[in-house]
Amino acid sequence: VKPSVVELGTDVYAYVQPDGTWMVNNAGFVVGQSGVVTIDALSTEARTRAYREAIANASGEAVHTVVQTHSHPDHTAGTSLFGAATVVSSSVCRSEVDAAARRGPAPMTMFDWYERGDVHAVPASVTFSDRLDLHVDDLAIELHAVGHPAHTNGDVVAWVPARSVLFTGDLIFNGGTPFLMGGSLAGWRDALAWLRAFDAATYVPGHGDVFTDVSVIDTLDGYLAWLQRVAAEGHAAGVAPLDLARDLDLAEYASWSDPERIVANLHRAYLELDGGAAGAPLNVAAVFEEMVTFNGGPLHCIA
Ligand SMILES: [Zn+2]
Repeated sequence: VKPSVVELGTDVYAYVQPDGTWMVNNAGFVVGQSGVVTIDALSTEARTRAYREAIANASGEAVHTVVQTHSHPDHTAGTSLFGAATVVSSSVCRSEVDAAARRGPAPMTMFDWYERGDVHAVPASVTFSDRLDLHVDDLAIELHAVGHPAHTNGDVVAWVPARSVLFTGDLIFNGGTPFLMGGSLAGWRDALAWLRAFDAATYVPGHGDVFTDVSVIDTLDGYLAWLQRVAAEGHAAGVAPLDLARDLDLAEYASWSDPERIVANLHRAYLELDGGAAGAPLNVAAVFEEMVTFNGGPLHCIA
């Protein structure tokens, strides 16, 4: 299924990539007379090239600014394809992108398919800690940092008040299992309460379809509350995250894509139950290995 450009109001677009699973994220863009601001890049050279072409077709303009909602490689790997564009992120996101760049490209052997191509994440040249406003002709894009660990340690939303559109990055997954390798379980729930206060008419999630019905946020928060509950029970019983994950009844969440993320999510919940600080790192390689074990083989990826 091909990605689609969704017009959300004059000059404001979402770029929605089915099926929203591993490394298949959404982005969005705002068009002005002298160029375009994109909210996020994509995960691979091929996907980011297709996105760049879609922007050019819709606007006739080139991208002069790339906003990174957070550091994850699906949202940042393609940044290098935007050439001389100014890259903007929270200062925490910049640190995370910079640290990842210094480590070099991850092997991505946990996936059954991933063809990165010739791209790399670029750390921001403009950073902020709380809020930064961009202006595209008369249209304001307010960038608001969550300010504490949530999905990652440096999440940002992009709010276009004149169109009542909120680009949430991965603070919202619509129809897929949310992913908590980094960030904070308690912090993510706080961020959802904070996010609701924008009272947007239209939400562009980091993965899954654009939506207007806030029950999507209720469902996600319900999942995180459920995760806290089952993790507390398993932790008290001394059951390891992978064993707990194998025995869990995912109930209403069983139909979501990427169910193996429950393993990472339980590790994050356990870390917090053990008194670990919000945003403290997990052993990413070890946790991905457990997800592959849970899945019975490499994780499904179409990127
Ligand atoms: Zn993410």
